[in-house]
Amino acid sequence: GRQFFVGGNFKMNGNIKTIRDIVHNINQAKLDPNVEVVIAPPSLYLLLAREHLRKGIEVAAQNVFDKPNGAFTGEISVDQLKESGITWTILGHSERRVILQEDDQFVASKTKAAIDGGLGVILCCGESLEQREAGKTIEVVTTQLKAVAEKVKDWSRIVVAYEPIWAIGTGKVATTEQAQEVHAAIREWLKKDVSPEAAEATRILYGGSVTEKNCSELSKQPDIDGFLVGGASLKPAFVDIINCNN
Ligand code: 13P
Repeated sequence: GRQFFVGGNFKMNGNIKTIRDIVHNINQAKLDPNVEVVIAPPSLYLLLAREHLRKGIEVAAQNVFDKPNGAFTGEISVDQLKESGITWTILGHSERRVILQEDDQFVASKTKAAIDGGLGVILCCGESLEQREAGKTIEVVTTQLKAVAEKVKDWSRIVVAYEPIWAIGTGKVATTEQAQEVHAAIREWLKKDVSPEAAEATRILYGGSVTEKNCSELSKQPDIDGFLVGGASLKPAFVDIINCNN
């Protein structure tokens, strides 16, 4: 079976004190040992989180650049993350796709750099409300993933996060049926365009207004293998989301 995975995407939130507090809270908590837990604080606090977080819980960047070093003001490389004990990165989050205008090719190129360099990648995909209403959800999501599959053959260190844009930060969580339908379609696509092995092994996370209240029902769906949590990952209830299968 696929190991359940819960990621916390802090986005551009927190400060030295609150991030210490969140890490402390996670360190103290009794966590389901069967769940892989990864937290993604803003880049400025990656080292702080890594230094204080207990072993067995991993730290992710929220982005990484696709070049090894050089004149790229404001960017961080794969090797710089790895040297600091950061083993994962989120890529292709809709906030970066929309606000920072990252296209599928750029996301794919960064995913390749991260995988080639030995980082795990939480690869985000998801449709807007307009695209959903036009019946284009599966097409949008598979097009985003296809760009990556053209550059990256080894998906063993990729975790896919399906995050419908209309559900992010809105309190409008996808229904279990809506989420399961897209997750199943992503798995079908993996089988066809990557490999049957990748389809079987790849964790597909749901993200978008996940809370301690809705997580248990979502987690029972056959193709939901975990969550990428935004707002609730900053709160003590993040622990309850990690433990949602108990
Ligand atoms: P919320 O959980 O705040 O809706 O954010 C989801 C998300 O974008 C995680 O990457």
